[in-house]
Amino acid sequence: MSTVVLARKYRPRSFDQMVGQEHVVRALTNALAGNRLHHAYLFTGTRGIGKTTVSRILAKSLNCTGADGRGGVTARPCGVCSACTEIDADRYIDYIELDAASNRGIGEVQELIERAAYKPGVGRFKVFMIDEAHQLTKDAFNALLKTLEEPPDYLKFVLATTDPEKMLPTVLSRCLQFNLRPIAPEVVREHLAGVLQAEGVAFDDGSLRQLGRAARGSMRDALSLADQAIAYGGGRLDETVVRAMLGSVDRGHAAALVTALAARDGRALLQGVDALRLQGLSAASTLEEMVALLQQMAVEQAVPGALDGADPDQEDGVRLAGVLPADETQLLYSMLVQGRGEIGPMGDEHAALAMVLLRFLAFAPTPEGAPQRRGQAAAGAAAEPDAPPWLDDAPPPDDEPPLRTAALRVASAPMMAVPAQPPAAPAEAPPTTPLGDRWEALVRTLQKQGRISALVRELALQAGPLACDENADSCVWTLVVERESLRTPALVAKLQTALSDELGRAQRLQLQPGVPADSPARREAWERQRRLIEAERQIREDPAVAELLAQFETARLVPGSIRPL
Ligand SMILES: [Zn+2]
Repeated sequence: MSTVVLARKYRPRSFDQMVGQEHVVRALTNALAGNRLHHAYLFTGTRGIGKTTVSRILAKSLNCTGADGRGGVTARPCGVCSACTEIDADRYIDYIELDAASNRGIGEVQELIERAAYKPGVGRFKVFMIDEAHQLTKDAFNALLKTLEEPPDYLKFVLATTDPEKMLPTVLSRCLQFNLRPIAPEVVREHLAGVLQAEGVAFDDGSLRQLGRAARGSMRDALSLADQAIAYGGGRLDETVVRAMLGSVDRGHAAALVTALAARDGRALLQGVDALRLQGLSAASTLEEMVALLQQMAVEQAVPGALDGADPDQEDGVRLAGVLPADETQLLYSMLVQGRGEIGPMGDEHAALAMVLLRFLAFAPTPEGAPQRRGQAAAGAAAEPDAPPWLDDAPPPDDEPPLRTAALRVASAPMMAVPAQPPAAPAEAPPTTPLGDRWEALVRTLQKQGRISALVRELALQAGPLACDENADSCVWTLVVERESLRTPALVAKLQTALSDELGRAQRLQLQPGVPADSPARREAWERQRRLIEAERQIREDPAVAELLAQFETARLVPGSIRPL
């Protein structure tokens, strides 16, 4: 068997042979059977999906005379009459294909229109097929419009495009539109298996999975790739060979990298990238594989059970869906998609891949809301100076900032007109308790005196007191703390010591998991919100701001841009 034979040999020659486009086939066969023919059809869909094939089958259906020469318009062209065989062989005088990608000017279209004036030479219908129709110039479209509006009875138009958005609406409205869909990988696999069995070519499941995915919804591409792989593999299809030919990367590598990212394990991540480099595996393909994996994970996260965990193609998606939260899955996905462009231009594509992946570690939210990176957890909990610097950025609560100052950005460039919404009323104040007052005062004192900082301070601020049992020689606080990472013995011991020193008697802390109803942090957050709303109100009511808004027509208060300073 020679190469390029499959794609040509198995090109569908009848509607029955079309795979994965049942909706289009059903509509067309019903129309043909009922003789309800439109004068212009538009087939849309990505390249290699079967637009030209459908057009040719339609042309055969319209012109087929049957094996006995007496047939009429049919949904099942015979395949043996002169119309059928000549259209298949691309030499039927009444079927004309024009590739608008290379013949896009008014001259070509005018020539076509002139040919439309003559009745069909041999067939019932003249069929004009304009491929990549969106590439026609505006003049060419306009020249075509009149014929498209009132074509002679014997003329049928078929337009095909990968980009219907670029077609003139006046053209679109005159066509009956059919969207050809990318064929699902499993449908491609199944069809390939049938073709290979018919051809007597040995194959394994892994190679079909590889080809099914690489085809990206196009059966033509799947068959061409299979042809190449068979030649490459010496007459058989073997996963290793297919993988090498496609430069595709084992899903296991992608899964390992996602796992390392979920664990915020920078070391494992870099080792993973190094392994790819050593094995000569493509960084770009790895990225593609990760993107595909994340898509599956997102599906499983949104609709648990939607994937088939027993399918080797989907098992990693099911397994890892629970490893990364849904929002981080989305974040990572968009970072990888954005990062695709960085892989090619860089000299060292593996270094570029590492950079894209490390970006997630730099920007991803800390797991479980912990105020530190997982990779630093042990060190951070044990020694405060390891503590992340951003914890020290919280505004000092004791200095009441001036409410009057606020940032105002006046956008003079045209922008989306956002109606000036009145500021939201402050949410109801969180419930406070006398015990909460006492705890807050104590924490503020410790903070002011510099007895607690970083993570210990964070623990104190996040803690909501439930009870305080005074004993003869000690005091036992029961505190509710939501973040698991703050409920560590090291942090608790430090806070106990600071409290005992301050109060002059032993203080013990018992921590419970849960969301505190009243904690210093909650009070602070509510106070920040209140000040923001107040600042927004003041800005909106400021006469100077009102004057600016009146002076500059396009000026708007950008929502969210006002900050109490
Ligand atoms: Zn025929």
